[in-house]
Amino acid sequence: MTTATSPSARSARRDLRVLVVGAGMSGILSAIQLREAGFDDVVVYEKADRLGGTWRENTYPGIACDVPSHLYSYSFAPNPEWSHRFSPGAEIQAYLEDVAHRYGVDARIRFGREVTGARFDRGRWHLEFADGARDVGDVVIAATGVLHHPNVPDLPGMDGFEGALFHSARWEHDVPLDGRRVGVVGTGSSAIQIASALVDRVAELVLFQRTPQWIAPVQNLAYGEEEKAEFRRRPEAMQALRDEISRAFIEGFANVLVDADSPLLGVIHEACVANLENSVKDPVLREKLRPDYRATCKRLVMSEDFYDAIQRPNARLAIEGIERIEPGGVRTRDGRLHELDVLVLATGFRVDRFVRPMRVAGRDGVALDDVWKQGPFAYMAISVPGFPNFFMLNGPNAPVGNFSLIDVAELQLGYILQLLEPVRAGAGDEISVSAEAMARFDAERQEAARRTIWASGCRSWYLDARGLPTAWPWSFDRFREGMSAPCFEDFEMRRRGAP
Ligand SMILES: Cc1cc2nc3c(=O)[nH]c(=O)nc-3n(C[C@H](O)[C@H](O)[C@H](O)COP(=O)(O)OP(=O)(O)OC[C@H]3O[C@@H](n4cnc5c(N)ncnc54)[C@H](O)[C@@H]3O)c2cc1C
Repeated sequence: MTTATSPSARSARRDLRVLVVGAGMSGILSAIQLREAGFDDVVVYEKADRLGGTWRENTYPGIACDVPSHLYSYSFAPNPEWSHRFSPGAEIQAYLEDVAHRYGVDARIRFGREVTGARFDRGRWHLEFADGARDVGDVVIAATGVLHHPNVPDLPGMDGFEGALFHSARWEHDVPLDGRRVGVVGTGSSAIQIASALVDRVAELVLFQRTPQWIAPVQNLAYGEEEKAEFRRRPEAMQALRDEISRAFIEGFANVLVDADSPLLGVIHEACVANLENSVKDPVLREKLRPDYRATCKRLVMSEDFYDAIQRPNARLAIEGIERIEPGGVRTRDGRLHELDVLVLATGFRVDRFVRPMRVAGRDGVALDDVWKQGPFAYMAISVPGFPNFFMLNGPNAPVGNFSLIDVAELQLGYILQLLEPVRAGAGDEISVSAEAMARFDAERQEAARRTIWASGCRSWYLDARGLPTAWPWSFDRFREGMSAPCFEDFEMRRRGAP
């Protein structure tokens, strides 16, 4: 843990009070990196009573990362103890808690503090909390999470279900599962992990599929004691592994998603087709599981055991569509009642709820909700015109492909720290992207978005209300390059109180 700034340079700088909202992976990162950059006045507000965000909230059976663990780790805190290539969620939660503790972040977090309002007034940000408390600071970093608000479908009759019904991100651990009849709604990564983990425990498993998914074959091997000992002894071996995985992911995956014509996408598609053909014996089931869009158009699901799970005698795939929920189970459109004791909604998240329901008002009281009426957007995924010193991590238009969002957040934070340098040096007080740069960026982004694989003809959470992908539509290399040095001409710097 080094301090990037010398004491004399630090004393020449103004102290800025930074208010971070959210203590998930991005908020913890912010607290660590801000301190290392010499920011001494940093507070992290977290509405829950524990840090971890995604990994605190998602505790469903089978939860694991689908980006290799040695890549899904902070670059500055490698972890020789990962148990698997794709380690379980509880291990990730423990890792985040351990890193926060080791880097002294937990002392900066105020738990049980939900930020309900953030108002920019006379050059400073005024936060309001659900309990009526207030705070004032110079900078706000919104690390509120993109996959945070559960998407709960409005299925007719849901309230009358006599069994247990809950969203995958709100798992009810006191509900018994062994030997019971369990339904899972959805076919995203969570649903696939849950179905695979539960099939051997339950009497019956029914997977309600609206859209089939391409499944990429992966092997989730355990790291043996010898490998872990080697990582402990030789951290450079762990770093080499991370570099190798990172290169493979970026070159073979992240960079190609943004070019729907890339031949590499064809290779990924064929691997998924072969996985389906080779794994699913029954031709009727195989066709039910076969998507009619290209692999990676939706977020690619990685699984080593889903096809096995869905072929078990006690598993059933229901593709007819849900008509309604009845007290005893789920009635599908073919008239069949699937009798169930437990119904899990693995129906994803409201990605358009980023930052919300917090009310954010920028310069002249302009509400972020009004600016984002057509959907959230941000210049370089970080700044919005008229919202000075307000920055987002893993927010709108950020990269979301199947790679480590920890990498994304680290790059973004490095960019934010550079944006704050002139403010700390006293060159101005308030920095935000100019309206012109925002408009230019968004026009280019929309144009590029049309060429990505995500726009190749499927329905997914990557798309906005107009059907346009919202994610970073260029290569990961371009993202990294863009984050390496802000283009300051695209930003407006003002003195406090200047018109
Ligand atoms: C099941 C699942 C599996 C995933 N697997 C991967 C993976 O393999 N690889 C990968 O890169 N990504 C994965 N992700 C994405 C994952 O969300 C990110 O990697 C990362 O954990 C996000 O961290 P975050 O801090 O940005 O957001 P979050 O983890 O969502 O944390 C946001 C925090 O902000 C708090 N908060 C929100 N609003 C307020 C408020 N108004 N006031 C105070 N506190 C607030 C929340 O309580 C939460 O603690 C997965 C997501 C899910 C749901």
